[in-house]
Amino acid sequence: MFDVKAHLKKLVEAHGPSGYETPIRAILAEEWRDLTDEQLVDGLGSLIGVKKATRTGDAPARKIMLAAHMDEIGMLVRDIVDGFIYVTRLSGVDNRVMLSQTVMVHGRAGKQFPGIVAAVPPHLLTEAQRQKYPTWDELIVDVGLPAAEVEKWVRIGDPVTCDVPMLELMGNKIAAKAMDDRACVAIVTACLNELSKMHHRWDVYAVGTVQEETGLFGASTSAEMINPDIAIALDVGFAKQPGVEGDELGGGPVLAIGPNLHPKLTEKLRECAKRYDIKIQDEALSGHTGTDAWAIQIARNGIPTALFSLPLRNMHSPVETADLRDIERTARLLALFIASLDDDFMDSLAWDDLKVKT
Ligand SMILES: [Zn+2]
Repeated sequence: MFDVKAHLKKLVEAHGPSGYETPIRAILAEEWRDLTDEQLVDGLGSLIGVKKATRTGDAPARKIMLAAHMDEIGMLVRDIVDGFIYVTRLSGVDNRVMLSQTVMVHGRAGKQFPGIVAAVPPHLLTEAQRQKYPTWDELIVDVGLPAAEVEKWVRIGDPVTCDVPMLELMGNKIAAKAMDDRACVAIVTACLNELSKMHHRWDVYAVGTVQEETGLFGASTSAEMINPDIAIALDVGFAKQPGVEGDELGGGPVLAIGPNLHPKLTEKLRECAKRYDIKIQDEALSGHTGTDAWAIQIARNGIPTALFSLPLRNMHSPVETADLRDIERTARLLALFIASLDDDFMDSLAWDDLKVKT
């Protein structure tokens, strides 16, 4: 029996900031080994797991791409002074929440050093300092080693990531770093698991994309490589919490509607959710969604793409909070949708009377 919580724990506690995804890719390749028939890697490092159609007709099987990014936000070493490590932001880390965090410095020769972000004791702060958030000049990592040792093993440009265990809250909620977007990677894995008990006529290309947080790069390169007939991107979205008007945590995946998403594909997903009585929520996104869906939609000659967002509280912090039931529901919906795809499905995406060029 597939344990999605245990799988997710493995993913979120692993490290792999944008551009440095090797460790998380290795873990994911292992987790997908028995669920896929073939594994590929694009030139940028995105992992592509191919699950072949279990039923084939005369024509070659069509391809659906599922994309969730495996990179996480992180930091880079910017300077080392007297053994203290100064860092800079690698994608969207929030400097407000970084003081006193536990981190991992990924040094030379594969050496990893646990560290903490140092904090000046409050007694020593001026009133003005207490009123403002720490700047990147004030976020300094201490790994405890003498200066010479730090200089030996850590260089400018080495990545630094948050290092916190996944926490189980009450009510099926879980909090961790990198839930953006490894919670959605876990959805893809759970979907592959569901599909292993079903028949499907389409080939499934499960993708852990790289460098989403730095510019949707892996989605772009993997979509070019796969050339899917349709795609579904999965990313996190803002859940409701004090100060945030968002979707309901635990209310089901959020189906995005807007010009970045193919209207008929989106409608087909909605119909599927209704048919199987799976709760979903709606969200209007008026332009660029800022997700892999954007890069995939405009790859090659245009790929019909849909987007599901997983509701998440505390985004881009080390305590990103998701609901396990949303993860399980989304996986089931995706598997049922994929199993329903037939040879004529592309005709149903036609623009008025014109067929989509495939
Ligand atoms: Zn994301």
